Amino acid sequence: MENNCIFCKIANGEIPAATVYEDEDFRAILDLGPASKGHTLILPKKHAANLFELPEETAKKVLPLAKKLGARLEEGLHAEGLNVVQNNGEAAGQTVMHFHVHLIPRYKNDTVDVKWAQGTLTEDDKKEILGLF
Ligand code: AMP
Ligand code: ZN
Repeated sequence: MENNCIFCKIANGEIPAATVYEDEDFRAILDLGPASKGHTLILPKKHAANLFELPEETAKKVLPLAKKLGARLEEGLHAEGLNVVQNNGEAAGQTVMHFHVHLIPRYKNDTVDVKWAQGTLTEDDKKEILGLF
């Protein structure tokens, strides 16, 4: 547990939250400021600030859990789509520095906005980026 980390406290049951799922490694809760009906957060119980700090053994369990809970939300709430969103760092919109995955059910004509303006892949950028790997 990290001192003063609200999601550590929620994930480990010190602060109550609307829990939709819990196991040894994770707690999934309803977001307090939902983007849409059913907006859920998957929180690991062990603190990791972001994806890069997440241990491999936890990381490999996250997507199967997102799939399972996302399917239940989409079906149960008769949603027509689902965004799986995970922000790392302030510049990327992360406000709580404890890794979490957003499950955001989508409905026709809802007001959720996860779009961006399309840019252009330049030859210089392509060369630079491909050179990283
Ligand atoms: P992010 O911007 O990716 O860090 O997302 C943080 C999310 O946590 C936001 O969607 C908030 O609405 C949500 N949130 C913050 N505090 C709480 C809380 N105490 N219980 C439930 N959700 C929370
Ligand atoms: Zn934490």
